[in-house]
Amino acid sequence: MDDTAAVRLAPDTPGLPATPTADGLARYGLYIDGAFTDPQSGQWIDSEDPVEGRAWARIPRGNGADADRAVAAAHRAFTSGPWPALSASRRGALLRKLGDLIAENAAWLARIEMKDNGKLLAELLMQMRYMSSYYYYYGGLADKMEGSVIPSDKPGVFNYTKYEPVGVVACIMPWNSPLPLTSLKLAPALAAGNTVVLKPSEFTSASLLEFVKLVEAAGFPPGVVNVVTGYGTEIGDALVSHPLVDRIAFTGGPEAGRAINEKAARYMKRVTMELGGKSPNIVFQDANLDEAVKGVVAGIFAASGQSCVAGSRLLVQRSIHDAFVAKLLAFIEDVRFGHPSDPATQIAPISTRPQLDKIRKYVEIAKGEGARLVAGGREAKVPGWPNGLFYEPTVFVDVDNRMRIAQEEVFGPVLCVIRFDDDDDAVRIANDIRFGLAAGIWTQSMPRALTMADRIRAGTIWVNNYRMTSTTSPFGGFKMSGTGREGGMAGMREYLELKSVWLSTGVTFPNPFVRR
Ligand code: NAD
Repeated sequence: MDDTAAVRLAPDTPGLPATPTADGLARYGLYIDGAFTDPQSGQWIDSEDPVEGRAWARIPRGNGADADRAVAAAHRAFTSGPWPALSASRRGALLRKLGDLIAENAAWLARIEMKDNGKLLAELLMQMRYMSSYYYYYGGLADKMEGSVIPSDKPGVFNYTKYEPVGVVACIMPWNSPLPLTSLKLAPALAAGNTVVLKPSEFTSASLLEFVKLVEAAGFPPGVVNVVTGYGTEIGDALVSHPLVDRIAFTGGPEAGRAINEKAARYMKRVTMELGGKSPNIVFQDANLDEAVKGVVAGIFAASGQSCVAGSRLLVQRSIHDAFVAKLLAFIEDVRFGHPSDPATQIAPISTRPQLDKIRKYVEIAKGEGARLVAGGREAKVPGWPNGLFYEPTVFVDVDNRMRIAQEEVFGPVLCVIRFDDDDDAVRIANDIRFGLAAGIWTQSMPRALTMADRIRAGTIWVNNYRMTSTTSPFGGFKMSGTGREGGMAGMREYLELKSVWLSTGVTFPNPFVRR
């Protein structure tokens, strides 16, 4: 199929979000109550293409007044009009229609996402095509969340439970996978009957402002889905503090997560926190080492390490350490940098300038701590893209688990290699960290795999594979990696309140002043 032919809703159609400006940049609007609108501030933020190293679009700088408008629209849509009157089955049908539209427009969405975050187009295409499955899965679940009849110990009553939507949900997303991470929240939130205000990262807002056209085309009523953009400390904070927001679904870094969680607690808002990690990828001497090398490389250098589940701590059994590191270095020796749309490119740029600065800073910290650099450690010069934000795959050996480079999330292509002696030592090192998002285990011994899977404190364990996720499976963190789950049935329940209803089956109500 010709990818460009899949674009059904051209971005320059009148009334749509992006209007060209005099300097040739696409200028976007906020999407509130079913219409695109300018921000109250009258200000826009440049969105940078990380390959070109210059702005390609402008996104609105929303503030508290815009948050107010969007939340008011979502609250109206939750409490009145067509949305609360729709049956759960009808909501499911709307979600499945949206899934169809996403499949038809995957190529267009992938290209916009690539402009903003510079990920490989091939990976984005896969992600966008798969994204339909979120809407099919949760569309299917919409009318299957059954309550129950409670076998009560009280006489003369009939007691049953039912699920109801939570209300207005504010979803706040990071820049590394804007649309998939939005969909993991949006699909179950809508399936459950909530209304939403979406706040993408200030670095990658364009794709969501385009995507929302598909939401409208699928037939969701105005106000059910709203998109506001801008800085976290401005409009993000205004959403978190808004009294009419009932639930916060956040994916991002631990610092912002903690600030949001504290504020949400003051208002007793429900929260889901999908935060960062420093996940161990553990290679035992009995592993198939060629398979393990591929898994380790996929774990840390796919998406240039800008992945919450990056396997950034490589734990290698002492007896195979040198041989395994040699294999790893050989594997990454000739990686190809280039434009993310070129199918030959293996490594795309770092998505944002602040992220590149953070990687540089951590490489210096690691050197200062005595870790030994054996690959990378510098920006890559890529012919044709002199301003691109490329960084070489970087490997440190002789890393001690107490070093900052082993304990803090870099969110870039930086791997630290740590030796271990035996199973107990591997468990000790793997768990000696404040995070608990994921872990990889490479061994051909099934008993060892199962025992390690039990002993490692993380929300996801991969045995002889890495980075596998699915709409159908719950995902989330232990410890500082977060709270709550996205994906699967658990992901749906996050967006529902459980209500208990008591019906009297007796004809009289007992006199409260007479004790029995
Ligand atoms: P970030 O925390 O800087 O920002 C995330 C979002 O929060 C942005 O939209 C930002 O504008 C907003 N924000 C920031 N401060 C806020 C505040 N005080 N109030 C309200 N909103 C605020 O994270 P990032 O740099 O965009 O993303 C990288 C982080 O995301 C990494 O730590 C990574 O591990 C994490 N992540 C986690 C998962 C997961 O599922 N666990 C997935 C992807 C990324």
